[in-house]
Amino acid sequence: KDSILKNSPSRDTDLKLDGTDASLSHKVSLWSGDITSLGIDAIVNAANHLLRGGGGVDGAIHKAAGPQLLEECKTLKGCATGEAKITKGYNLPAKHVIHTVGPVGENAPALKSAYQRSLEVMKENNLRTIAFPCISTGVFGYPQLKAAQIALHTVHDFLKEHPDSVDRVIFCLFLPEDVKIYENLMQIYFPIE
Ligand code: ADP
Repeated sequence: KDSILKNSPSRDTDLKLDGTDASLSHKVSLWSGDITSLGIDAIVNAANHLLRGGGGVDGAIHKAAGPQLLEECKTLKGCATGEAKITKGYNLPAKHVIHTVGPVGENAPALKSAYQRSLEVMKENNLRTIAFPCISTGVFGYPQLKAAQIALHTVHDFLKEHPDSVDRVIFCLFLPEDVKIYENLMQIYFPIE
């Protein structure tokens, strides 16, 4: 089931965002599968306020990382919506986990902040590769298309502002609907000539 999806070339140049730079597109990938299998600098966890583990991607990350992850999370005193906190990756192939808390339901500024703060925490820690799950679109109920637009837009703006700080951003897609949504939106936010 796991596979690398191509970064689809843009066929409709009219769809290009103003100021979209094709050199940014080469730093962004779609990946279909389990985020816990990625051996990169940081994977992002769609956590909740308590940082005590949970269901969905949070549960999968804690299970794969082992009990030491929960022990470190307990020292962090929780995490506010739209914020992000970093831990080690323990038994994961990823070196670090960046725990962020997305909004419950539709709240664009809070979802944008979750992506933005995760990227800032990556940069502050001199990390260069990061993978995001589709934050808030599971149990937290954010509509998938609107969430994807915010995810891609926020990553686009961050890469444009800090082009030399990031080597790769991976959108880790678990559901077939998200694969379709992201493949379409990639042509707008990250077109390839
Ligand atoms: P939230 O509470 O923020 O909505 P969820 O974990 O319920 O978080 O869902 C967020 C997204 O993570 C959903 O698209 C879900 O399908 C996906 N997901 C669940 N397990 C994994 C996993 N192991 N790897 C990557 N994505 C996953």
